[in-house]
Amino acid sequence: MARRGFFFDFSNKCIIVTGGNRGIGYAYSRAIAQAGARVAIIYRSSKDAPDVAEKLGREFSVDVKAFQCDVSDSELTTKTFTKIHEEMGPVTGLVANAGVSVVKPAIELTSEDFHKVYDVNVLGVFNTARAIAKLWIDSKHQGGSIVITSSMSSQIINQAAPNKALTQVFYNSSKAAVSNLSKGMAAEWAPHNIRVNAVSPGYVNTDQTSHMDKHIRDHQAKNVPLGRFAEPHEMTGQALLLLSDHGSYMTGGEYFVDGGNLIW
Ligand code: NDP
Repeated sequence: MARRGFFFDFSNKCIIVTGGNRGIGYAYSRAIAQAGARVAIIYRSSKDAPDVAEKLGREFSVDVKAFQCDVSDSELTTKTFTKIHEEMGPVTGLVANAGVSVVKPAIELTSEDFHKVYDVNVLGVFNTARAIAKLWIDSKHQGGSIVITSSMSSQIINQAAPNKALTQVFYNSSKAAVSNLSKGMAAEWAPHNIRVNAVSPGYVNTDQTSHMDKHIRDHQAKNVPLGRFAEPHEMTGQALLLLSDHGSYMTGGEYFVDGGNLIW
């Protein structure tokens, strides 16, 4: 039964959110649970993730569970997703949101730094998307929706310092890669009614941005047409739409939720 006053009714859905225990991912988990879906939260190492899941489940009277899984490990990801599909499923959607950054001048970056970023932001997204797509295709499921958290930095060189001396080149390029990856997967899996889209945030107040110096944050915020960083919950509207039945004709898109940052 539809929840009165709530546009999205997810009561028949089960959705996996990677990095769903904190930051933007937590906001996704919360909004999805509030809409009535079962939620499987994937985390890497935060010890409080099972408690976060339990608390969310209690708040909205839905089944929310946390699963520890490093998404850069393809075999472990497949095993974990199969377990979730069997225990909580059928899974109907995935938010591939886990992401990391290394903030260093380009001249100092190492191969290790490259793997640290790309193994999560690109390979990790691919591992999770493929794991769920394979389950859907093998079980002749009616399809599903995959939402990838990319970034506005898929399009622009995102400065980490006002003097342009620090731009996070591996992070920015990994987001360009994952936005393109999402279009390729959308094209290949469309015949199976699997929709793949990217949501690309601008600056959001999370642990990832908390390391920035105050004067850098102020400088960045001033350049955003809306004049501020976003709060995590402000990212959720577009993702909910894409995961919902209202988004049934939307695939291969990249949607910017950036306070107008890409206007100039
Ligand atoms: P946070 O740093 O707050 O959280 C990162 C999350 O990803 C955590 O839940 C973490 O789990 C999880 N994670 C990291 N590596 C792995 C891994 N190998 N396997 C499984 N889970 C992992 O990030 P944000 O909320 O800021 O960012 C979320 C997404 O949004 C990222 O993809 C980021 O690039 C993107 N983004 C963020 C912006 C911002 O301004 N904050 C702007 C644009 C895009 P654990 O807690 O266990 O470590």
